[in-house]
Amino acid sequence: MSSHAQQPDCIFCKIVRGEIPSSAVLETAEAVAFLDIHPVNKGHVLVVPRAHHADLTELPDHLAAHVGTLLPKLCRAIKAATGADGFNVIVNNGAAAGQTVGHGHWHIIPRFHADPVNWPWPHSEYAGDELGQMRFRIERELGLKPGH
Ligand code: AMP
Ligand code: ZN
Repeated sequence: MSSHAQQPDCIFCKIVRGEIPSSAVLETAEAVAFLDIHPVNKGHVLVVPRAHHADLTELPDHLAAHVGTLLPKLCRAIKAATGADGFNVIVNNGAAAGQTVGHGHWHIIPRFHADPVNWPWPHSEYAGDELGQMRFRIERELGLKPGH
């Protein structure tokens, strides 16, 4: 039994506990990287902290930092192993952003010139002072600006 915080019914906690099989490519004391069973492109890997945290907003800094130390070598290995021309590293947070497994994780998705993946997303425009207002609101939440 792992000493990490776990959720009994979470599919990724079950993988971490070894109750469900996975194709792991890298394992550390704090995280596991394994192949996504429904890959966007073949070689699509998920990087999953062992401890159960719903998404990035709940992840302790040290776990985010640990995953960060794994990403460059994983990306190099995936790119070399698949012959990819590039790759996307993304985290879906919340159902609105496409998250389907409520145990926060990173996707590393190998990409190929002219592959059929629908990326990049459409971009919009700021009008008037919206950009400045948005900057202010985010800085205020970060504690960089005094509140109203
Ligand atoms: P997300 O939509 O960001 O929550 O990503 C969840 C990902 O987990 C999806 O890409 C699924 O294909 C993948 N997935 C779900 N169950 C498993 C499993 N048992 N083993 C490997 N990948 C899985
Ligand atoms: Zn979990």
